[in-house]
Amino acid sequence: MEKMIELASVGVRGLEAYQPGKPIEELERELGIANIVKLASNECPLPTSDRVKHAIETGIKDITRYPDGSAFKLKRKLAAKEQVSESQITIGSGSSEVLELTARIFLGAGQSAVVSQHAFIVYRLIIQSLAAKAIVVPATDWGHDVKLMAQAVDDTTRVVFIANPNNPTGTWVTLADIERLLQKIPDDVVVILDEAYFDYANVGSAAVGYGSGIPLIERYPNLVVTRTFSKAYGLAALRIGYAVSSPVIADLLNRLRPPFNVTTPALDAALAVLDDLEFVSRSCQVNAAGMVQMVQGLTQLGLNFIPSVGNFIAFECPRDANEIYNALLKKGVIVRPIGVYEMPNHLRVSIGLEEENNRFLTALTEVLAATR
Ligand SMILES: *Cc1c(COP(=O)(O)O)cnc(C)c1O
Repeated sequence: MEKMIELASVGVRGLEAYQPGKPIEELERELGIANIVKLASNECPLPTSDRVKHAIETGIKDITRYPDGSAFKLKRKLAAKEQVSESQITIGSGSSEVLELTARIFLGAGQSAVVSQHAFIVYRLIIQSLAAKAIVVPATDWGHDVKLMAQAVDDTTRVVFIANPNNPTGTWVTLADIERLLQKIPDDVVVILDEAYFDYANVGSAAVGYGSGIPLIERYPNLVVTRTFSKAYGLAALRIGYAVSSPVIADLLNRLRPPFNVTTPALDAALAVLDDLEFVSRSCQVNAAGMVQMVQGLTQLGLNFIPSVGNFIAFECPRDANEIYNALLKKGVIVRPIGVYEMPNHLRVSIGLEEENNRFLTALTEVLAATR
């Protein structure tokens, strides 16, 4: 067995598996309780839209066939939405796949990628798996310090990862600062701008100076922007996301991409939800209202939290975060410990429906009031 581990490539040998949020079924089995609230994976809390359900049901008759590997219809629709050419779009099995494929094109052993402290952990897993080095830049006020990140780029650097907004901190970088970074770094360093939470940050005015990076691609062909259907669009289980890039990078992505990486139900659902503007705007509205509710509740409890423009919020625990996490679990509320993000005293809670947020706030109030 040990021999097998020795046989694995250097990058893979050093990896630690990504820890997903605890599934509801698992907690149900462990505790034997029902009515569990999961606020641990930043999912859309709304029920699936009828249009999406209908599209998937209609497409079921074709699942004996491979999906459309070129994702023709979806690319056409996304190109119109993002005002780019179809040749600039790459569809992935979740945006995680396109993030990883982009890194695999440009990054290898002996090279480095720049990431921020507290940034989405998947970047470091990708860098490590490629036996490359992560240059981790200290955060400022929990957020990416893009000025320091630009300075951290050295001769070995091939990729810079930016999560905007970032998970788990909910912090964001202004479009002007992103452009300044692009101006400063060499044009042979690829910037991967992960906009998984774009729609939440883009509504309302909380995220001052925030904006889509996609229009910058024309002037900075070393920029790749990724988006996902997993969050505001509510398709997390189907695994679908995309990258917008220069046509040249899209061509490279297309060479590396597995031929049928996205399933027919995922393609059908993505097409349907893009037509369901009402669903997406409701998804963002419910999140905005839920964020106000969470901020009020955490403030009333006297807790520190990091202002967030995503669909989640990280708050500081007045005592051991794992103890509070476990006590919340016992009350049927799943949140997310973020020790691996160098935030051992914080917990991250996703914004749910009003009654789910209430369940969380009530449980947290009880847990904090209980003496150990
Ligand atoms: C959730 C998330 C993603 C999206 O992952 P998918 O593979 O598209 O489901 C990407 N980046 C960040 C920062 C995320 O939190």
